[in-house]
Amino acid sequence: QLQLADRVREMTASPTASLNARTTEMRAAGQDIIGMGTGELDFDTPAHIKDAAKAAIDQGLTKYTAVDGIPELKRAIVAKLDRENGLHYEVSQVLVSCGCKQAIYNLVQATINDGDEVLVPAPYWVSYPEMVKLAGGIPVIVSADIEQGFKLRPEQLQGAITDKTKLLLLNSPCNPTGAYYSLHELEALADVLRANPQVMIASDDIYEHMLWGSEPFVNILNACPELHERTFILNGVSKAYAMTGWRIGFAAGPEQVIKKMKAIQSQSTSNPTSIAQYAALAALQGDQSFVREVVTVLKQRHDCVLSRLARMTGVRCVPSSGTFYIFADVHRTMERLGVATDVALSELLIEKANVAVVPGSAFGAPGHIRLSFATSMENLETAMTRLAATLS
Ligand code: PLP
Repeated sequence: QLQLADRVREMTASPTASLNARTTEMRAAGQDIIGMGTGELDFDTPAHIKDAAKAAIDQGLTKYTAVDGIPELKRAIVAKLDRENGLHYEVSQVLVSCGCKQAIYNLVQATINDGDEVLVPAPYWVSYPEMVKLAGGIPVIVSADIEQGFKLRPEQLQGAITDKTKLLLLNSPCNPTGAYYSLHELEALADVLRANPQVMIASDDIYEHMLWGSEPFVNILNACPELHERTFILNGVSKAYAMTGWRIGFAAGPEQVIKKMKAIQSQSTSNPTSIAQYAALAALQGDQSFVREVVTVLKQRHDCVLSRLARMTGVRCVPSSGTFYIFADVHRTMERLGVATDVALSELLIEKANVAVVPGSAFGAPGHIRLSFATSMENLETAMTRLAATLS
């Protein structure tokens, strides 16, 4: 008889994955579905990165590597953190993982005990609460609505901290909202964190480069270097270099914990794919013009989607500062159409408008939908016309 472990009984696959499956199914049935649900760029990985991977294969660099990554890549990550983020790490404080996701997973496994509380600002990335639960922790969801730009306020942070709080998961620019915390906002959160020394901080910087607006990217350590001893930087090459399939991410932080994260990785996946590591090395060390070009295109698409959404009755949005998502408040649209949930609304949109979006409840924010603009302008124009027709 099959016996599931208690800790996985309630667990389901990522809701964004089931939406992708439905899109694939409808497309296979010949329907013209425009995907605004995707979490990856519609650009190809740049040629110089692919060439580095091909060269690695030809040179026979296809064997196990050090569990925590090849030394060249770890040095390139240290250099990147110094050059782009003004953060200083030793190579021993860096771990290369199979995507940023595994880096976060390792961190949660390495730090969370049964009953520990982890603060997850909502709207959140779908995997955060599940990773916490899988480690025996309790995700404490702190909701930030559209009125506050979907950003956690310092008083909310203070109000959510208890003596069981172990970790805060911060993501800026944020999936799903595109919200970005300014230096000033991070300083205000850091003030609270300084007064609560038991709380560690995870800064998920995976959308660092997908940012427009006048301010350069900053994270909580730039705002408050004092938090260095209990902050972890999580990042990777997936989003910035259109490398989601290559599965290379990294963590940087206090060595004592990084060492244990490495031990977890050594007993689960071992090293990330050797070939992909050489590709990531080329991404970090090579020409960065791809990243700039992508941001210009994303900003144009964002402006188009935002202006079209703003004209739809009952849809409320705030501009995104980065990522390739817009998070729309559709409470009033649902009311007007007599649709009870955001899941039902998303189903209606895929069936009637043939546009795939992700329901906000997947991100802990019912009554919203996430629209991804990681698709061509032509597709976006058509999708927005179809959405307007269905939602009006
Ligand atoms: N963190 C956030 C906020 C994300 O949106 C994603 C991917 O969607 C990840 C981490 C994972 O990135 P990777 O593909 O490098 O594992």
